[in-house]
Amino acid sequence: MSSTYKLGCPHCGRGIRVRNSTSDHPLFRIYYLQCTNIACGATFRSEMVITHQMSPSAMPNPEIKLPLADCALRAQSMEKDNDNQLALDISDSQ
Ligand SMILES: [Zn+2]
Repeated sequence: MSSTYKLGCPHCGRGIRVRNSTSDHPLFRIYYLQCTNIACGATFRSEMVITHQMSPSAMPNPEIKLPLADCALRAQSMEKDNDNQLALDISDSQ
């Protein structure tokens, strides 16, 4: 299963995909990215951090303590996406 995020190569604007990822914490992950434009060929390192709880889990982990999203963060999650950005396939493709 893969998910698509709207993030493009900062150099050429084409889509980028995850080539590998690592994590040693349930709230943090490092992604190694590669531009899908063969003429560009750029690679990147990025980080993803889970910062807030938008809604509660039906299977809560007592070791995970996240702040609840306030009204402003909830409103941001409902805003329309920027369609000018290209997709990033975050499925690990090893
Ligand atoms: Zn590129």
